[in-house]
Amino acid sequence: MNGATTSGELRAHNRVRLLRAVHDCGATLTRSQLTRDLRLARGTASVLVAGLAQDGLLHEEPAPEHVRGRPTQVPGPHPYGPLALAADVREDAWELAACELGGRVTVLDVRPHDGTPEGALGPLGEAVAAHRRRLRHRVVGAGVALAGPVRHGGLVDIAHLGWRSVEVPRFFTDAPIVGNDTAFAALAEARRGRLRDVEVGLHLHVDFDLGGVLIVRGRPLGGAGGMGAEFGHMPLTGGTRPCVCGAVGCWGMDVGANALLRHVGLAYGGGRGREQAEHVLATSEEAVAAGARALGLGVAALVNAHDPEVVTLSGHGAELYERAADSLLETYEPGLMAIRRDHPPRIECSALGWRGALLGAMESVFDAFLTPEGLDRWRENHLDQARDTPERQNVTHSTPKREKAP
Ligand SMILES: [Zn+2]
Repeated sequence: MNGATTSGELRAHNRVRLLRAVHDCGATLTRSQLTRDLRLARGTASVLVAGLAQDGLLHEEPAPEHVRGRPTQVPGPHPYGPLALAADVREDAWELAACELGGRVTVLDVRPHDGTPEGALGPLGEAVAAHRRRLRHRVVGAGVALAGPVRHGGLVDIAHLGWRSVEVPRFFTDAPIVGNDTAFAALAEARRGRLRDVEVGLHLHVDFDLGGVLIVRGRPLGGAGGMGAEFGHMPLTGGTRPCVCGAVGCWGMDVGANALLRHVGLAYGGGRGREQAEHVLATSEEAVAAGARALGLGVAALVNAHDPEVVTLSGHGAELYERAADSLLETYEPGLMAIRRDHPPRIECSALGWRGALLGAMESVFDAFLTPEGLDRWRENHLDQARDTPERQNVTHSTPKREKAP
């Protein structure tokens, strides 16, 4: 029972478990399913749900497929309930969203930037502050994903952009949770994607270059200093070119938008050229095949090292696989140790498309919030501000940017 001994502690513990379960299932399970899964007594579950609804944390809706008998209720996010602000800062633009418990995302803002810390993070910090003022106590935290290694304390390096030890929190009024985009994408994949319930998984996220991280029991391995998600900077393809990171022959130089641009002789680097790279991806079979072969070579090496059950690909990684699976398998299969060839780990495209990094940032915020202390703080603020009516988040299902319709 995690040390919950008094009835008050037990209740606080069960409030967290119930909210966590609603969040993790994407607000799709009925109250009776949740009651069963969490092994709660029916009466206990009713009291918990009523209390959480009163605190503005949950709201029940009738199940859509209800046919007859007593209506079945599905607990989901309260219309004035907690929100996580989540941002995905890419090398050329950022996206900011408000996320509800259950994982529904509303994009608030998408802006290109000039690649400097001030140009990227200055306006983002201002946008986050403005939304915090508008949504007030509903905002329980902010998470920011960045395309480079992040050290504890929110120090980030993005070699392509010339960022060295940029202190991300100084651009924000309240310190956000700062993390690497690949590690966040992997976390999201483990929570609500293809790495769910996977013991050991490998996640690779490809944008301008490639990042990769091992997920063990649902957690990305962050390394001692928080900078673990850097498989892209290993010499897995036999290249000899110096990488902007300072190492030589990095795998990430051969996979991603920069590699596509280089392959067809266009300028690359500095987080520029996304549209041209997408054009290359759509039109140059040769460039796509080269990227897919480089991807397969590195995946084989990492599979030999880590023995994952599944390898998931997001961003351009998924597109390379969809466009050129044969080329990828051409290097992947021979690259595997003989003992692995009979049952190679399956390679799958992310269930979350380009949205993973943003969703991972959200998960980190809700992980910090979904504790007895977090809920107590919410209740105090909620009671304080109950007379004012904070703006209701206009919640609509949004289509992830740049994601193809199914
Ligand atoms: Zn490198």
